[in-house]
Amino acid sequence: MARFQTITKEKFAEFVYRLLKNHQVIGPVRKDGSMQYHYISDPNQLYMDYKGHTLLPPKRFFFSEEEVLFTYKIKDGGKDVEIHDSLEFIRGLRVFIGIRPCDIEGLKALDEVFLSEFHDPYYKSRRENTLIIGLTCNEAAEYCFCSYTKTGPLISDGFDLLLTDIGDFYLVEVGSEMGSKLLDLNLDLFMDAREEDIEKREEAIRNVRRQIERYSLIDLTDLYKPMVDSFEDSIWEEYGSKCLSCGKCNFACPTCRCFDVYDDPNLQGDEGRRVRVWDSCHFLSFTRVSTGEVFRKERHSRLKQRLYHKYCYSIDEIGRISCVGCGRCIDVCSAGIDIREVIKRVYEKWKGRIHTSQD
Ligand code: SF4
Ligand code: SF4
Repeated sequence: MARFQTITKEKFAEFVYRLLKNHQVIGPVRKDGSMQYHYISDPNQLYMDYKGHTLLPPKRFFFSEEEVLFTYKIKDGGKDVEIHDSLEFIRGLRVFIGIRPCDIEGLKALDEVFLSEFHDPYYKSRRENTLIIGLTCNEAAEYCFCSYTKTGPLISDGFDLLLTDIGDFYLVEVGSEMGSKLLDLNLDLFMDAREEDIEKREEAIRNVRRQIERYSLIDLTDLYKPMVDSFEDSIWEEYGSKCLSCGKCNFACPTCRCFDVYDDPNLQGDEGRRVRVWDSCHFLSFTRVSTGEVFRKERHSRLKQRLYHKYCYSIDEIGRISCVGCGRCIDVCSAGIDIREVIKRVYEKWKGRIHTSQD
């Protein structure tokens, strides 16, 4: 049985103030004209009324856009190498406030990659030391479609606490033992939730779902066969001819996790650093191999790769699609490519072919 509490917005500011005394706190702030997740030093910096998603997803706080994995020194004329890893252990606990349900699901998808067969120590240390206080939406943004990817507007796990704005209060659902402990340590600020508080959350979620479902879409968790059958469809060339291969959709995506690793030596070549940076499957260089060949030369093949990875290959790899319906890739695309429209058209053409073959 889930535990629910409420807290007034005024007391929530006090709660954040207390968190800041002992922890690093990250949350949604308004910065340079957009909503961004950022470290905060004052509860007043938080902007909890934001609509839809932030500009970039939370992944950069766990898997940085650029990070030094280790530094090295070549010694004894090349006979020995001294390595200092740059693994940064977070001291104590970090608290991440205001993450949307779709972004929490995005982190769960990253967990399947970075904490599964192989453990990425950089990601792991940050993930294990970060407490997640989610925030459900009260209003969907134009491009949100999480209800079609089954990653929102309400989720059942992946958070320590989950807030819903219900007017002068937040309804708080406890999602973990850590979340429960945090509440118990600050119990003077919280009250037991009433049945009507929980009903208010249900109503808010229903509203958001209605807003999202004004754009009618299919169940995107069930596209495996239509995608497999549509590999040679001309639709890919159509959208590929519009795509600029800028990679913005990858960088804005909460689940895109491809990276490149390079060495950055000094001029003498006797010391340097190994760096990891985000990469993009839209870049021509992405499939370049040591012989110089590029396996996805055509622009459409790269656009296609991204979408197949999201809705098809990902099911083989991690057992779930890698799209959480945040809509960021639609928001940032300078070519106006809308992933919902592409997929819908692929599906409808596939359905048409199936019907024709059955007639
Ligand atoms: S953001 Fe748009 S134009 Fe840029 S790579 Fe992605 S689909 Fe292509
Ligand atoms: S593919 Fe687009 S809509 Fe789906 S999770 Fe990535 S950025 Fe969000």
